Amino acid sequence: MTSGAGVRPGPAGWADAARLDPGARSAALAALAGTELQVLVVGGGVVGAGVALDAVTRGLTVGLVEARDFAAGTSSRSSKLIHGGLRYLEQLNFGLVREALAERSLLLGVIAPHLVRPVPFLFPLTHRLWERAYVGAGVSVYDALSLSFGHTRGLPGHHQLSRRAALKVAPALKRSAITGAIAYWDAQVDDARYVLTLVRTAAGYGAQVASRVQVRGLLREGERVTGVRAVDLETGDEIEIRAQQVVNATGVWTDDILVVPKDRIHSSTGIITRTADSVLFIIPWGRYWIIGTTDTDWVGSKPEPAASRADIDYLIDQANRVLKTPLARDDVVGVYTGLRPLLAGESESSSRLSREHVVAQPVPGLVLVAGGKYTTYRLMARDAVDAVVHALDWRAPPSCTDRVPLAGADGYLALWNARHRLALSSGLHVARIEHLLRRYGSLTPELLALVEADPGLGRPVTGADDYLRAEIVYAASHEGARHLDDVLGRRTHIAIETPDRGMAALEEITGLIAGPLRWSTRQAAREAEHYRAGVTAERASQEAGTDADADAIRGTVPDIVPVLGAGEASGNGARRRGGGVAGVRGRSH
Ligand SMILES: Cc1cc2nc3c(=O)[nH]c(=O)nc-3n(C[C@H](O)[C@H](O)[C@H](O)COP(=O)(O)OP(=O)(O)OC[C@H]3O[C@@H](n4cnc5c(N)ncnc54)[C@H](O)[C@@H]3O)c2cc1C
Repeated sequence: MTSGAGVRPGPAGWADAARLDPGARSAALAALAGTELQVLVVGGGVVGAGVALDAVTRGLTVGLVEARDFAAGTSSRSSKLIHGGLRYLEQLNFGLVREALAERSLLLGVIAPHLVRPVPFLFPLTHRLWERAYVGAGVSVYDALSLSFGHTRGLPGHHQLSRRAALKVAPALKRSAITGAIAYWDAQVDDARYVLTLVRTAAGYGAQVASRVQVRGLLREGERVTGVRAVDLETGDEIEIRAQQVVNATGVWTDDILVVPKDRIHSSTGIITRTADSVLFIIPWGRYWIIGTTDTDWVGSKPEPAASRADIDYLIDQANRVLKTPLARDDVVGVYTGLRPLLAGESESSSRLSREHVVAQPVPGLVLVAGGKYTTYRLMARDAVDAVVHALDWRAPPSCTDRVPLAGADGYLALWNARHRLALSSGLHVARIEHLLRRYGSLTPELLALVEADPGLGRPVTGADDYLRAEIVYAASHEGARHLDDVLGRRTHIAIETPDRGMAALEEITGLIAGPLRWSTRQAAREAEHYRAGVTAERASQEAGTDADADAIRGTVPDIVPVLGAGEASGNGARRRGGGVAGVRGRSH
């Protein structure tokens, strides 16, 4: 199915995912320009994509435009945790934690069991009695709050560990730094893939979706907003999109995170530890660890926030406070930076607020949704669409997204159980099938069909052998990727999981997507050259001593399809930076 021309108001087969190729984008743009929608969503991060899905599954006609790639903002730069937020318990914010844990249960059990999975954590204790009692009580409340929901997909409860037991599961910890630990469970997600899957699901139900379309202004009749003026950044064409309600979900794009190889930290569990101002996460991520986050103000570029040497050193220092064998700069395979959306007026001292969201209607025809966190995107989307429905005076049903599995969820468990059979019939190793199932769920047969048609696509990508060549083709033919950065940075994570940021794989990847994207030889060369220049600028920015220098260096190579006057049309308040995934390659323990 494609998102096709013409606005389809209703479901078109809930288990289907739209095929987002260049033809589907052109058709969606034609439909967006030619119809008055009930709802146009601006911003293709997790919130905007969630709004689109919520609205279309209530029977509304929906469009979604994103200025860059889907999830290119904060939604591909998070710590990738689906969590209740243990630390908010300290603020006695039980309602917020309970709400987020309910979402965690839904995502694990119903909505996206293929993309969201349990992850174990260790909270090292540094004092003997009071801390064990204090943290233990907090984690007990955390578990109890999550037990009030049905779908925990078997997340085990927490347990207390002696120092000896803690060192057994996490030998990387400094013996002198701990007196014991508390083990508990949370969940994690491939944030960029999740957004993309939301978008494909929404398109499957009839939403018209297009990336690289930047909204430049609002259409108005009197005070009322009646649509937007937008630019197709790929062609420079201007489009007017008419809609009875426009939802602004443009977030704010900053935080630093490091990625380091798995064999650099000997532990079978993630680790969470306090820092002076916040907490530090060391989170398992396939063959890597991600370590974050910083939490500093950022005033530079929103599309490409940069990490400086000081940010990277800060994260390494914080991790080394608890690690037996210290990490060094060379261990860092990748770094990423995201901007945390804060509500206007929110200050550093009130970062609690940053996890809550607001929905506002500043003028008729316009709904703003801002704040919140990834885990609770569905609630933000529900509230925004409630506001839309109210303003439309439309008898739409209530949100049903708590019962709408994302593309690839339906049938996932049965396919998982049949993975050995799939391995036999496809000729792929069972580990590859598992990798595919965790990324595509029950859409995996679409990739296996590509391999069947061209067995060469069943080979790993040279220089990025975690991924099959079929996945690269599929990113361009089905998943809306339009440029190399989309493929290396968001459909896959080659850009942060390989020390050379995917340079060795670049030529092969360019060759694989040139066909589906209809690139000429000249364009393919230009795209590859641009990717190389971006990597060089990013590396240089990470050697810079200050944010300003890092920003200036990174800014020398903008996105291949640069947004115009970046940030003008967004503006949901102030921002703080955080992030940094450091990936460490190696064997897993
Ligand atoms: C470092 C870091 C770690 C985090 N970790 C977690 C975590 O572990 N768990 C958790 O639950 N939350 C986490 N968060 C919070 C979470 O990532 C964000 O709350 C969430 O991703 C915000 O999504 P969004 O859709 O509002 O914004 P974005 O993802 O930023 O999406 C907004 C989109 O709007 C687009 N846009 C802007 N202007 C225009 C325009 N004019 N026209 C068209 N499109 C436009 C942008 O390109 C962008 O893609 C973290 C945040 C950070 C920074």
